[in-house]
Amino acid sequence: MSNIRHALTVKREDDFAKWYQEVISAADMAEESGVRGCMVIKPWGYGIWERIQRLMDDRIKEAGVQNCYFPLFIPLSNFEREASHVDGFAKEMAVVTHHRLIADGKGGLIPDPEARLEEPLVVRPTSETIIGDAMARWIQSWRDLPLLTNQWANVVRWEMRTRMFLRTSEFLWQEGHTAHADKKEALQETHRALEMYRACAEEDMAMPVVAGEKPENERFPGADETWSIEAMMQDGKALQAGTSHYLGINFAKAAGIQYQDHEGTQQYCHTTSWGTSTRMIGGVIMTHGDDDGLRVPPRIAPFQVIILPMLRDKPEDAETLNYCEEVRAAIASQFAFGEKVRVLLDKSPGKASAKRWDWVRKGAPVIVEVGPRDMENGKVAAIRRDKLWNPETGKLANTFPERQEFYDKISGLLEDIQDSLFVEAKERRDANIVRGVTDWDEVSDFYRSNGKYPGWLEVQWSKPTGDALEKAVEKLKGEKLTIRNVPRDSLPADGTCIFTGEAAVERILIARAY
Ligand code: AMP
Repeated sequence: MSNIRHALTVKREDDFAKWYQEVISAADMAEESGVRGCMVIKPWGYGIWERIQRLMDDRIKEAGVQNCYFPLFIPLSNFEREASHVDGFAKEMAVVTHHRLIADGKGGLIPDPEARLEEPLVVRPTSETIIGDAMARWIQSWRDLPLLTNQWANVVRWEMRTRMFLRTSEFLWQEGHTAHADKKEALQETHRALEMYRACAEEDMAMPVVAGEKPENERFPGADETWSIEAMMQDGKALQAGTSHYLGINFAKAAGIQYQDHEGTQQYCHTTSWGTSTRMIGGVIMTHGDDDGLRVPPRIAPFQVIILPMLRDKPEDAETLNYCEEVRAAIASQFAFGEKVRVLLDKSPGKASAKRWDWVRKGAPVIVEVGPRDMENGKVAAIRRDKLWNPETGKLANTFPERQEFYDKISGLLEDIQDSLFVEAKERRDANIVRGVTDWDEVSDFYRSNGKYPGWLEVQWSKPTGDALEKAVEKLKGEKLTIRNVPRDSLPADGTCIFTGEAAVERILIARAY
């Protein structure tokens, strides 16, 4: 394998953070904007987001949730009504205080003191409070429940340490907000959304995740319970890829979301909220990327098949292009995953080999090259991006199927790529979750002796609260560790707490995280 010349300059094993940045620019997904923490998402990156969005939106609608749109600006007083909510978000809120600028006399502009807003408006970091107001207006009786809404929007959180896709000051997301008659129904919705996120991550993005409950110290500000899906990146760090919150009646009390029950009594609604963002694209990069760039799972690839004509600036080029157009049309009429195959005939100028490497770096699942010889033989040259190299020869693992055979097999090929990306990621993830560590010294040892990219530990704990929890969190912090979640599907505890030595009550995952 050592003779392979990879398409990126940085290898994952040498500098994972630098490699991540290189993939984003080499795949032409996004760039810095000049505004700190805000990025420009370019067509290939945005195309992936649109695919994720479409597939998730179908799942959201299947669950009977309807899309709405709420204002970008939220009165500051809305936040003040829920104490822990405002506490949690205060340090990262952007606020509009003026509605007009005036000349400062030195050629610049300043906010007009005469145009100060009566009440500052927060640029939404999340919309519980403004959607809560609407819920209070829309809900009168038990007949109005459940109320199931979602919005696709941008939000702003003034993050201090930003990183493209993973943590930006402005990001794109969906936020589901629902109101229910009682706790039982609201919890059911919390878990439905969590399960939907697991399916989106695993089935659409081929990104294995662990679904579970966040510990008390990691709860969303104002929530009674926070659940998450956690994905393992190739450097062994965890990425919180989505969250689903049971909000109890906290926001219902703050906004007056009440309904009249069957007996005519006024009751508070139990509400939920759940969100996923453009962070998931960062997760896809760090799950599937390799030393040649990104590998996009076919379900979320803007184009699944790229056709590259090998042109020679000769009269025969016209014929080659015609043949390519035939191939394109034939592939475009095939179905994979119940949708038309998305195929691009890339006629852009440039040498075919340079264009091939561009598409390799972008991670298009299948790249098809067609030259005059292929045309004569009625064949195509196909490259499968997820298995780019022949491990024995160290050369590109291309195949040369007859074109009809290729059309017949494209659907199965795309499905196979989707599956094998998932299996590869899952095997790596499972191999890097270590169980059976029972005392704290072993935790430090594990993270100090397991090389550059240690994985996760599953340990047992007594679920301490208050000061005892704080102590445990501090201890973890000393090793740059955090509790990711209490896996939904883990075995019951049967040992002692890694922090207190008391009898354990459940198992938790601890890891370094993004
Ligand atoms: P939250 O409303 O805090 O539960 O956030 C919902 C989801 O948005 C989280 O699970 C993250 O995946 C994502 N998220 C939170 N903060 C950011 C950020 N600064 N940039 C990108 N995604 C974020």
